Amino acid sequence: MSPTERTSIFTVDVEEWFHANYDDVPPGHGLTDDRVEAQTDTLLALLEEAGGATATFFVLGDTARAHPAMVARIAAAGHEVASHNLTHDRIDRMASTSFREQCRASKALLEDQTQREVVGFRAPSWSVGASSTPWFWDELRQAGYRYSSSVFPFGNFLYGDSRAPRLAHRRDGIWEIPPSTAEVAGRRIPFSGGFYLRVCPSWLIGLLASRLVRAGEPVMYYVHPRELDPGQPRIPLSPTNRIIHYTGLRRTRSKLGRILAEAPVQSIAAGQLRYLEAPER
Ligand SMILES: [Zn+2]
Repeated sequence: MSPTERTSIFTVDVEEWFHANYDDVPPGHGLTDDRVEAQTDTLLALLEEAGGATATFFVLGDTARAHPAMVARIAAAGHEVASHNLTHDRIDRMASTSFREQCRASKALLEDQTQREVVGFRAPSWSVGASSTPWFWDELRQAGYRYSSSVFPFGNFLYGDSRAPRLAHRRDGIWEIPPSTAEVAGRRIPFSGGFYLRVCPSWLIGLLASRLVRAGEPVMYYVHPRELDPGQPRIPLSPTNRIIHYTGLRRTRSKLGRILAEAPVQSIAAGQLRYLEAPER
């Protein structure tokens, strides 16, 4: 197996602990507390310990504006900085004109902060889809983005679409690069990020990742800084949402350390260059 075949993609959605889009989050909850820098620095240290691994950091515009020095540290460490939109509102509840303003403003902000071109985008809470936001990809292309990692190809009651393509594909001039799902007995199994990564034991993550690697598919991990923060304040969520949001926080850091020790990782820009050709006009 060549190093290229073994290389996985590591992504981080950089936002605060209160940026969660559950319907029962009180409006404005926690908006003054800052915890994102410490946990982002932990992720930067984990990647550095993994011997020069790179990652894609999808930074929320609101968070970037409040923490410019953190964005500078991410870029200075050689990682890709991409956009997680300007605010953490669901895109499928936004008018296309509002999204147009937000995706352009967040790109300009991050480019100003990093002095590098921003070509990647991830929707907050995987809140886009072919039927709910048919204009999304064309707006990204017109704003100058080249790829999106915004559609979760597995449906649950909060987000995702089990009929969406599992692998990278072109849509309206944009590469859509989904997070990983394994296929077991004809069923899709998410395992590589968020709640799924927190509940799956390390041996299962390793097993499913190796299945994808054998099939020649990239493994894309995704994590939020708050998932390494067991001491974060608790949002008053429903019992189900509380389980989804807070299960396994104490184990995330060591689990990521094992993943990074076993598989070399890189950013989307570094690892998926064929997706970053100039968009078709
Ligand atoms: Zn997010």
